[in-house]
Amino acid sequence: MNKIYLDNASTTAINSEVLTEMMPYFNSVYGNASSLHSFGRDAKDATEQARQKIASAIGCLPSEIYFTSGATEANNWAIKGIAHANSKKGKHIITSKVEHESVLKACEELEKEGYKVTYLDVDKYGLVRLDQLLHNINKDTTLISIMSANNEIGTIQNIQTIANIAREKGVYFHTDATQAIGSVNISVNDMKIDALSLSGHKIYGPKGVGALFLRNGVAIEKFMVGGEQEKNLRAGTLNTPAIVGLGKAVEIACRDIIANAKKMSSLRNYFIKEVQSKIDMAFLNGHPIQRLPNNINFSFGMVEGESVMYMLDMQGIAVSTGSACSSGSVEDSHVLKALGLAEDLVKGGVRFTLSKSTTKEELDIVVEELQKVIKKLRKISPITKAQVGKLKK
Ligand code: PMP
Repeated sequence: MNKIYLDNASTTAINSEVLTEMMPYFNSVYGNASSLHSFGRDAKDATEQARQKIASAIGCLPSEIYFTSGATEANNWAIKGIAHANSKKGKHIITSKVEHESVLKACEELEKEGYKVTYLDVDKYGLVRLDQLLHNINKDTTLISIMSANNEIGTIQNIQTIANIAREKGVYFHTDATQAIGSVNISVNDMKIDALSLSGHKIYGPKGVGALFLRNGVAIEKFMVGGEQEKNLRAGTLNTPAIVGLGKAVEIACRDIIANAKKMSSLRNYFIKEVQSKIDMAFLNGHPIQRLPNNINFSFGMVEGESVMYMLDMQGIAVSTGSACSSGSVEDSHVLKALGLAEDLVKGGVRFTLSKSTTKEELDIVVEELQKVIKKLRKISPITKAQVGKLKK
């Protein structure tokens, strides 16, 4: 059976160019980037080149890039680190209800410490309510953190507008750009972004590596104590091969942004049309236009997303329900709930995320299998057609 992978928002296959670039750093150039001898200097040169590549891809200085273990760490660090270092000014943070768990849970920790956090609502497409943002900024607000694009529904936020508001009000602005890098043009200087998180494995790079862009001058508390790596802010021996891979992956993602977005968005639109014309009660979640080129999220009436996912898996097709991080547990997607969907449609959510190598033939197979799976599940559904979309949240 030829397997089909449509879960690229969870993670991607590594690009062969990236892998090739990483290889020598496992067993040939293996020095510790902090060592002063030539082995160390060679490793350090490689990490500095990666830093330079990321900086030029997102429009900042290399000295403003800090390597982390991924976007989870970058988000935790940015939110808690900026909040703590600026607590004398105030203890109020603004974020949204549709952020990734690594942002939401970092904010919850701050709340336990006595900070006040405002979680902004989103509209039916998942766009943050800008009127609420303006209304909630006050003299104690030190940080606004809004994701560039949502991992579940693909909605791309009006980041430029939010960044402008933050700058005007003298509040730092952080964005989780994990899903947006390689799909959305981002220039942190032009856009007045103060901090940005990114991750390697969402953009055909290695897992367990990411970066935080932090504008020079923004006060932040250390993430970990130990060695003096990363300007004495994030201790720990640099993971040279992963960092080299991250640099290459970001470079390629930003270089090929137009071609990849064009290809994937046309396949995305094709898939959406096919599903809507062949399956009734298929409701698209997220913004119809302002969405990631590779993201499709449908709620199917009278079925549970989990069941669709398992039955497609039996046919060798990988999709997801909610975000990968919350699946495994049966908790409903906080993102679909924030859109205001009825309970059955929250449970009926299925996410299909394409890669740059996904083909039309693969999508045709998925639509065919999906039709069969949904037909079977609807036959045994406890929900009637008349109840679809009406069950209380
Ligand atoms: N933010 C978003 C929007 C994500 O999609 C993810 C990954 N699911 C993360 C943060 C966490 O990234 P990482 O896996 O690199 O920790």
